[in-house]
Amino acid sequence: MADSLSGQWKRIQGRLQAEYGEAAYRSWLKPLELLGYSDGRVRIAAPTRFMRDWVETQYGGRLTQLWQAQNDTISGVDIVIDLEHRVAAPPIAETVPVLAHGNENVATEIGARLDPRLTFSNFIVGKPNELAFAAARRVAEAETAPFNPLFLYGGVGLGKTHLMHAIAWHIRETRPERRVLYLSAEKFMYQFIRALRYKDTVAFKELFRAVDILMIDDVQFIAGKDSTQEEFFHTFNALVDQNHQVIISADKSPNDLEGMEDRMKSRLGWGLVADIHPTTYELRLGILQSRAEQLGIAIPEKVLEFLAHKITSNVRELEGALNRVVAYAKLVGRPITLENSQEVLHDILRANDRRVTIEEIQKRVAEHYNIRLAEMYSARRARAVARPRQVAMYLSKQLTARSLPEIGRKFGGRDHTTVMHAVRKIDELRSTDRHFAEDVELLRRMLEN
Ligand code: ADP
Ligand code: MG
Repeated sequence: MADSLSGQWKRIQGRLQAEYGEAAYRSWLKPLELLGYSDGRVRIAAPTRFMRDWVETQYGGRLTQLWQAQNDTISGVDIVIDLEHRVAAPPIAETVPVLAHGNENVATEIGARLDPRLTFSNFIVGKPNELAFAAARRVAEAETAPFNPLFLYGGVGLGKTHLMHAIAWHIRETRPERRVLYLSAEKFMYQFIRALRYKDTVAFKELFRAVDILMIDDVQFIAGKDSTQEEFFHTFNALVDQNHQVIISADKSPNDLEGMEDRMKSRLGWGLVADIHPTTYELRLGILQSRAEQLGIAIPEKVLEFLAHKITSNVRELEGALNRVVAYAKLVGRPITLENSQEVLHDILRANDRRVTIEEIQKRVAEHYNIRLAEMYSARRARAVARPRQVAMYLSKQLTARSLPEIGRKFGGRDHTTVMHAVRKIDELRSTDRHFAEDVELLRRMLEN
């Protein structure tokens, strides 16, 4: 068997060379060494940890296929680090589990595993994310980098990671020969520091510079980490100079990233900067409807509307709330209703109660009654400005946790008794004048949303 095994390996090497080209073959595949075969598994050695990881992500699946085509008793391929050739092999190398091949999704130490749920088709597009979505699609479909880098930014849980995974899935499906590497900035830093420690930086550089598409998620993480930033800058430049696509995400725009060097900030903004805005009610409802459909559960539209209305912080929380409602209903065997949804979610709902500020109230009320904002603080007592001012005081009492004296101070330094009087007056008017009551109610709802 051993004889024919090396013969098979020769043939496989020939195939790899033909399939991946001379350069890639020489850098990554030629240095691999066949160690042996036992229990249905072929063992192959790579000279360094980086090469092992790289070969595993980029060529692992194909290697397994080729072996299996040669020899149907083979169930998988194990790539190990060749300790023989490493004089000062780090002790952990021996204890690191060797991952099996044959599975494209094998978790490796370099790239992160792609979440199968995070695809373009599962991404709901709305006003707040349409630019980011269009840019991501464009990059995923393009032959050559249409803008470089693509910089996606926005608050937590608004879909940055989702879009990056979606790009990776799309490329993997349509052009599997392209080398896509997705990882968090944190992991990038971790790899870099380890490479420094093991004096493996040459392999590190080679590894990152050999990719066609590099995605670094949450780049704000390396802000303030100088040496990592430096290395990232070089990697970044090398890739962009070769016109290899780089995609970056962060929680802020390049300019607003604190602890980032100026040259880095400016370089990050060279391509297309696309921001994802906070969700709108329509987008939240769309996401909930699609999730409910995915879960295959009929949920009353009223409940979905209620969630979309109340959980405004981000999509992750929104999904969490929906999952909780569904899990609860299943667990206790009760139908999903508005009442029990409210009950199950009371803590989340409280946290999502929007904090309205007195300033916002003043602005909104002034707009509504078509008076100048300055009248909120002025001493004028004409009814046309005094009544709106009282409404604003009343709403400040209802919608904020501020005390009467605090509210008075915000209205041009008025006394707390003035605020109290305003609250009473508005209450009285609300009970006698239906139109007025509706007006105030409308304002309250606008402010709460
Ligand atoms: P970020 O990386 O911006 O913090 P994620 O991409 O991790 O956010 O998104 C958080 C969760 O919300 C994920 O489960 C993701 O699938 C979901 N999500 C965010 N935006 C959308 C969207 N537009 N359509 C569908 N799901 C979304
Ligand atoms: Mg993310």
